[in-house]
Amino acid sequence: MVKRWYLFIFLWAIFWSCGDKQWKGQEAIQRVNTETRPIQYQWKQTYHIGKGLHFSNEFDGARLNGIAMTGEDHVTVLITPENTPVNASPWYAFKVWSDTPRNIRVKITYNEGVSHRYYPKLSRDQKTWAKIDSASYQLDSVSLSRKLAPTFCEFDLSVSSDTTWIAAQELIVSKDIDRWEAQLDTFSFVTQQEIGKSRNGKSISLLQIGNPESKKMVMILSRQHPPEVTGWLAMQAFVERLCASDSLTQSFRNEYLTYVVPCINPDGVDLGHWRHNAGGIDLNRDWEAFRQPETQLIRRFMQDKVIKGGKFYLAIDFHSTFEDIYYTISPKLNGNMPGLVPKIIAATAGQIPGYTPNVKPNEKDAPHISSSESIFHAFHAEAFTYEVGDDTPRDLIREKGGATAASSMQLLLKPESK
Ligand SMILES: [Zn+2]
Repeated sequence: MVKRWYLFIFLWAIFWSCGDKQWKGQEAIQRVNTETRPIQYQWKQTYHIGKGLHFSNEFDGARLNGIAMTGEDHVTVLITPENTPVNASPWYAFKVWSDTPRNIRVKITYNEGVSHRYYPKLSRDQKTWAKIDSASYQLDSVSLSRKLAPTFCEFDLSVSSDTTWIAAQELIVSKDIDRWEAQLDTFSFVTQQEIGKSRNGKSISLLQIGNPESKKMVMILSRQHPPEVTGWLAMQAFVERLCASDSLTQSFRNEYLTYVVPCINPDGVDLGHWRHNAGGIDLNRDWEAFRQPETQLIRRFMQDKVIKGGKFYLAIDFHSTFEDIYYTISPKLNGNMPGLVPKIIAATAGQIPGYTPNVKPNEKDAPHISSSESIFHAFHAEAFTYEVGDDTPRDLIREKGGATAASSMQLLLKPESK
């Protein structure tokens, strides 16, 4: 009961202290230097910590920076970022097994000044994930009692010789994304191609969906920020809806050509980064200076299509944050299809009973350092950032992602409809 009370205070402090029911979103973003900075690579290893217990970060997407036995059955894990300063999205992912079946208590801690964010997920096969049992889950009660964000979490875990994976969100790394893209590539109207390499030389892949002759184009982006898996799941549902077989999708794919970059930051994803690319930079602050290869290559790709006579009507960049929210362009500005984005959001909400969308327009229209502002100003595509809550139920993410695709297709085909 005590735990629930603390949790209540914590949620109250986050979401209700502003005196408004609906979350107001993040503070306006500031221009930052996006010149390449060093990152700290993890020491990849299996930690044999005694008593037949083994922890490891030897897999893509892992993040485990240190570990110690801190009691009879108590293990404390240390998680640190790729470099600082960095946004508070402390990603973790590690695997554990034991020579003999036993119960342990795991405490996840971070470097000083960082607060815990992601509720731990568990998997036995690295494919299906579930939240860990809430009965034993505890947050840092001292911080909570002072109305501060918790600095750690801890929970009971039963381990055996079968490997258990623990991660901040479902583990979806570049090889999983490649597999998904390859499945879509089997459709006659989908083509997968590499459009360039990341800073560390990983392939950055693009899906082309629809009529390759069409000059009417849509751009879909995802995973600039590695831990933002819920945004990726929404993008996945959106793209799968575009590939469905019905009269709406067939008309849309005849008339439009959609480009999708499902993973802009494969280095960050596979290195288990909290935020940055392998150049140590938040890519979604580099859409003005273009100092990183990942942002450069997408800009070049889009410029090339426009030079060849194409016109971008819509661009959506999928992300995750504390709650579902849409960051939109200033409503005073008109792009290639004025009014499209508010109509998409309203039409999507109309398909989901009880859903009131949270929309935050960039009234000041400055600075143009993030993808949606930059793409709007460079290419006049109606653009928005589609943010999904960390804890939004996964079936609702899929439903909304699909509904957003359906309303986007309808409105792009008939812009005058309501
Ligand atoms: Zn993001």
